[in-house]
Amino acid sequence: MKILLIAGHGDGDCGATGNGYKEADLTREVATLLKAQLNGYADVEIADMTKNWYQYVCKKGGSLSVKGYDYALEIHFNAIKPEEKSDGATKGTEIYVTTAEKGTTVEQGIVNAISALGFKNRSVKRYNWGLINYIKKKGVSSALLEVCFIDDIDDMKLYKTKKSEIIKAIANGIINGFALEKKANELTEACNVLAAKGIINSPDYWAKGEGYSDSNTVLLVKKFASYVRGD
Ligand SMILES: [Zn+2]
Repeated sequence: MKILLIAGHGDGDCGATGNGYKEADLTREVATLLKAQLNGYADVEIADMTKNWYQYVCKKGGSLSVKGYDYALEIHFNAIKPEEKSDGATKGTEIYVTTAEKGTTVEQGIVNAISALGFKNRSVKRYNWGLINYIKKKGVSSALLEVCFIDDIDDMKLYKTKKSEIIKAIANGIINGFALEKKANELTEACNVLAAKGIINSPDYWAKGEGYSDSNTVLLVKKFASYVRGD
């Protein structure tokens, strides 16, 4: 399963603002944390976050390749009218799919899980927003999540205190909706085996799978030879 995350706004467009937050920053934060949360369950990529993909594709005629992806999730925060004073209630979470989308199990799961944390459930809606419509027309299921209202005091208070649970809720909506199973990461397991035998000291460094320095690689080969010899 290959998933594309798209952080809304950016590249000079900060999106909606409220309660000291800028939407473009929050969408990037959610995309980054969500990718980490889905690690092992799916191959997740975040579309280049230096870009404003809606502007680039829908206004400037640029293109976004979604070849090989099974699902694309565009992340936004909602806004309607700045709240002056807390009314003690959240405005809530909602998610959009295009009118061409058949099932909405995943999207139902996402908003249900987020609303279980205290956000009003504004449910799954249908609207052909530019970028998700562009993606759906290319044959990839897509959705646009409005996590909560950036201009609502209660929404953002809850976002701040429950950020990690919200990320887990979105991830679980995807994991359960697509019935994804966690794959054991072979490289991580191999590194743990070598660390347990004292052949490597920094399993995290080796488990990254790239960026090894020549001197560290040479050291690894020597230590492994030493282990094989039984020194
Ligand atoms: Zn937005």
